[in-house]
Amino acid sequence: MRTFRKPSKDNLRLTAGKERKNMENKILVETSARHIHLTQEAVEALFGAGHTLTKKKDLSQPGQFACEEKVTVVNKCVDKRTGAEVEKTLTMSVLGPVRPETQVEVSFTDARTLGVSAPVRESGDVAGTPGAKLVGPAGEYVIDHGIIVAKRHIHLTPENAADLGVENGQIVKVLVDTGAGRKTVFDDVVIRVKSSFAPAMHIDTDECNASAAFGVVYGEIIK
Ligand SMILES: [Zn+2]
Repeated sequence: MRTFRKPSKDNLRLTAGKERKNMENKILVETSARHIHLTQEAVEALFGAGHTLTKKKDLSQPGQFACEEKVTVVNKCVDKRTGAEVEKTLTMSVLGPVRPETQVEVSFTDARTLGVSAPVRESGDVAGTPGAKLVGPAGEYVIDHGIIVAKRHIHLTPENAADLGVENGQIVKVLVDTGAGRKTVFDDVVIRVKSSFAPAMHIDTDECNASAAFGVVYGEIIK
């Protein structure tokens, strides 16, 4: 009988490290779990008047942080089998700082759980997307749009972009091979350049699972 052993994180790291040495256009690949960005108005509706977000930990992008606060996203929809109206919910962390517009970022698996058809969009491009009711400990807040599946992207500074020979808005492919038998080339990866960025590629949890991109992983940009 054959036994199947789960590759340990250390094994995956070692493989990624080995590959990295030979990689020319390497980029750190980070996975974003579902999360929500809120306006200050939404923060106060959900957590109380005058409430400000509580930082839990810094994220790789300078100034961005995960918060202690969590929000439950509620979608009312009709159960296809019974025809009854049901409420589907997903709880997620808030990412700070507050933004000019509330935005919910989910994977396609999350969208299915919520019963919404969220489109693939770049962050900030939320016009015409599904909305939901948000529930926090102090109240509710309804958004009529804002749920997206984030388009896979790479954050770069202008210096990083020059080194890699790419420019803002360019679409590239990225090879991810962690040695777990899930070698994957991601196409449709958009380059985003800003001096305040730190170099990293962001994928969602579906994409992470598809490519076994667990732990510290580097991809290779293919133009
Ligand atoms: Zn990002």
